[in-house]
Formats: sequence, structure tokens, C-alpha cells
Amino acid sequence: MRIWIDGHTCGYELECMAKLFFQAEKLPVETVEGPIPDMPEETLYTKAELLVGAGDENQYRLTVRLRCLNRTAGKLEDTELVKEVCCAPEQSQKVFEFHFGKMVYDLLSAATGVKPPWGILTGVRPVKLVQRCLSQGMDEDETEAFFRERYVSPEKISLALETARHQKPILEKITPKSYSLYISIPFCPSRCSYCSFVSHSIEKTAKLVEPYVGLLCRELEETAKLAESLGLELTSIYMGGGTPTTLSARQMEQVTDTISRCFPVKEALEYTIEAGRPDTITLEKLEVMKAAGVSRISINPQTLNDKVLASIGRRHTAKDVLECIEAARKTGFDNINCDLIAGLNGDTLESFQDTLGRLIQANPENITVHTLSVKRAARLRQEGEYLEAVHNPAAPMVEYAQKVLREAGYSPYYLYRQRDTLGNLENTGYCKKGREGYYNVFIMEEAQSILAAGAGATTKLKDPFSIYIERVFNYKYPYEYIERFSDILDRKGQVNRFYERIFNT
Ligand code: SF4
Repeated sequence: MRIWIDGHTCGYELECMAKLFFQAEKLPVETVEGPIPDMPEETLYTKAELLVGAGDENQYRLTVRLRCLNRTAGKLEDTELVKEVCCAPEQSQKVFEFHFGKMVYDLLSAATGVKPPWGILTGVRPVKLVQRCLSQGMDEDETEAFFRERYVSPEKISLALETARHQKPILEKITPKSYSLYISIPFCPSRCSYCSFVSHSIEKTAKLVEPYVGLLCRELEETAKLAESLGLELTSIYMGGGTPTTLSARQMEQVTDTISRCFPVKEALEYTIEAGRPDTITLEKLEVMKAAGVSRISINPQTLNDKVLASIGRRHTAKDVLECIEAARKTGFDNINCDLIAGLNGDTLESFQDTLGRLIQANPENITVHTLSVKRAARLRQEGEYLEAVHNPAAPMVEYAQKVLREAGYSPYYLYRQRDTLGNLENTGYCKKGREGYYNVFIMEEAQSILAAGAGATTKLKDPFSIYIERVFNYKYPYEYIERFSDILDRKGQVNRFYERIFNT
């Protein structure tokens, strides 16, 4: 599949849209001009022309032509849609995107027989869109109609609305000066084959860990001073990565001690550490976290199928996961999250159902169901396993999870999409009543500022009075972070300038 564009600049949006039907990492977008040239097989051609002399408003003619193998009819077909739309020039980009999106959806859906569940929505935050509709005065029926107009399936509309309702009281906890703290530990014991994060195998980067921890603590100290001088209020703390428990118990203590010394930990609604992989969690580290006041931890099996665990490069078994949950309970943790991935290579619907059943028995307060992304599947392709991953039944797994988790007393409280997931499905966090992971809601809905420390971390400065967000990036790799640490501290000045501007201080 290739994409040709003529007379407009919506190439990226069209590529995103076409990828809903043709799961590939990249689809080439080319600009063409003049009469429609001969289209090679599998081409999507889109053209926008301004109709001169069409009155006060600008009138455009949009053309979408598709040459594509009709999967149902089994033959190559040419189809074309033409539509005229009026819009003010300043709205033309949005109007183009919307109408092109719908026209492309109609043609591609007819040709492939696929109906992407999120319709023409390509953004990663559908619940934020619900929140925006509601805050603009639409009621739930109008919001539903807005999503229906964009071809979102009834099931996904009700999932997004339910999640938005669940989030409302959490978002109300935010004040103009509130912020969350994110700490990045970008190391893992080994690299999982599906991973698309910036994470570094501890075996290759062992020498960097000690200096990294030292500098991270310095960055945390500076961040705390900044937050205090600006009068910011801490809402939640989240340590993620990577796998924070890759650090030794002593190194973890060094970081948690710094946090306790510098930040008002007791004022935070939540303190999460993404312990992550069971092969890194020890009783000693659990005790360090508990003593530091950590209130929520993640222990992430991804699957409880031992064969799949081995094939994705995890060095632990299902039994290790369950023992780890048990140990965390004994240490006193009463809010545990477990991540699962639907669509992992080698996993079947039956083994996914078995995983979910056993996990529900273990009774964690949160279960987050992710969908494998095609990007990750692409990495599997390099290992000759791509096709199996793509044909994996992720959709029935996600659907099954939604049903049994509800029956087991969990409900959806945050939801996001990643580009290129199998079947264009979402990632959903479920929780028992009152056990929501606040940070997940704040970050996914971009509801407040996040002050971030560590390699690969991004500080997000959110204007509390508008949708404006400013970002401050830290260096991505630990070696850069260590070598150019003074730049990291210099960049923190942007936080000061941002808040001085917002509050005119
Ligand atoms: S544990 Fe998570 S961050 Fe680490 S390699 Fe595996 S998927 Fe990536």
C-alpha cells in the first residue's frame, strides 16, 4: 500500500488512517500533482482542490481514489469517492482531516472487510476526548453521537464513557499548583523481545548504574528545591523504567531515602514503584519499598504461560510471579498491579484465559491489559516470528478480559491507545473499587504537570488554565545523562520560567 497526496498536507493523518487497515510499520506517502497518474496496485490517492468563486466560505472538492485488492471479492478494484465541503480557511485543515478520514475509512473498510473498533480516531487518548466533549458542555448522548460520527464501535464508546465517569472524582483532586513526580530507572535484567522502551540490559550497562543512581539523587534534590520554591503541591510519585527493582536493595534505598528527605511523601495520594519483573524482586527490596512509604507496586507477569515467558526473553516462570505477589502481601502491600499483554507470540485465547483466571485468583487490586504493538511484533519479525504474532487473536483476548474482569469486580479506570497495536486495540487499566492508580490517570489524561528525573524522562508542564503543555526532555541514554548531567540541571530552569509566566510571579 502506498499513499499519494495532491493539493493538501494531510499525508501523516492518512498514513495513520491507512495503518488501521494495513498493519505495517510504515506506509510510504508521496506528493503527486496534475492529472491522476496511473496508479500502481494498492494505492490510496487523495486530492483537495479549492473551488474558486464559491461564495463567502471556501468550498473544496475532496477526492479519494483507491486501487486495492478487494478482500471479499478477491480481485483488484478501483473505487472513487468525491465530496464537496465548505469551511472557513482557518478550519480547513481540521475539516479536511475529518472528511478525508471518513472517506478513506469507507473505501478501505469496504475493500478489506475490516472495521477498526476506534473508527477514524487515531489519537492515543480517546478518554481525554470524552472529557473534552463533556467539559465543552455536551451531555453523554451528544458525546456518544460525536464518537458515532467518527465510526467508533458502540462497545468502545461505552468503554470510553465508563472510564471517563470513573476518572471524574480522581481528576477533581487536581489543583492548579499540583504536580506528580516521575523517576526513571532505565535498566532491566535483560531485554524482552517485544520491548519498545528505552531500557538497557543491566549486563551491558552494569558500570553505569552506580554513577547513574548518584546523579539521579542530585537531580531529585534539585527538583524538590524547585517545586518547593514555586509552591507546588505533590499529588503522586511514580518510579518506572525499565525495571526499578533492577537496582540493588542498597541503591533502591539510596533513591527512596533521597525522595523521603526531599519531598513531602506523606502528602502524596499515592507512591508507586513499578517493580516489574519478578526475577528482580527480593524480600529485602520489598522491605525497602515498604519502609519508604511506597503504597502501590506493579509486579508484571505479562502472561502466566511459561513457554511464552521463555520465548519473549523473560527469565522467570509463572510460579515466580505468584510467589512474588504472595511475598508482597506478606510485606504489607495492599495495592498491587499486574500487567498482561494480549497477542504475545505463542499465546492462544485458551492460554490467555488461563492466565487471567489464575491472576484473578491471586487477587491483585489492579490488572492492566495491554495489546501487543505491531512495532513490537516487527521486532519479533526480525526473529522470524512476525506472522504468528500478527495473526494472534488479540481481539477476543481483550474482549474476554473485559468481560471476566468486570465479573470479578474490576472496572476500567484508565485507557489509552498506542499507535500500531494489533487490531488497533487499546490498553486498559482495571481496578477494584477505590484502588485506581492515580498517576496513570493524571499522565494519560495530561491533567497536571509531571516533574521527571532520570534518563529518558520527560517533564511535562501543564498550564492549569488551558490545554497548553510544554515539555523538557532529559537525555535518553544513561551514558549521555551521566556525561552531560550539568545540561540536565540547566534545563530545569524552564520549569521556573513556565510557572513564573503562568502565575505572573
Ligand atoms: S521489563 Fe519492560 S522495560 Fe524492561 S525490557 Fe521488558 S518490556 Fe522492556
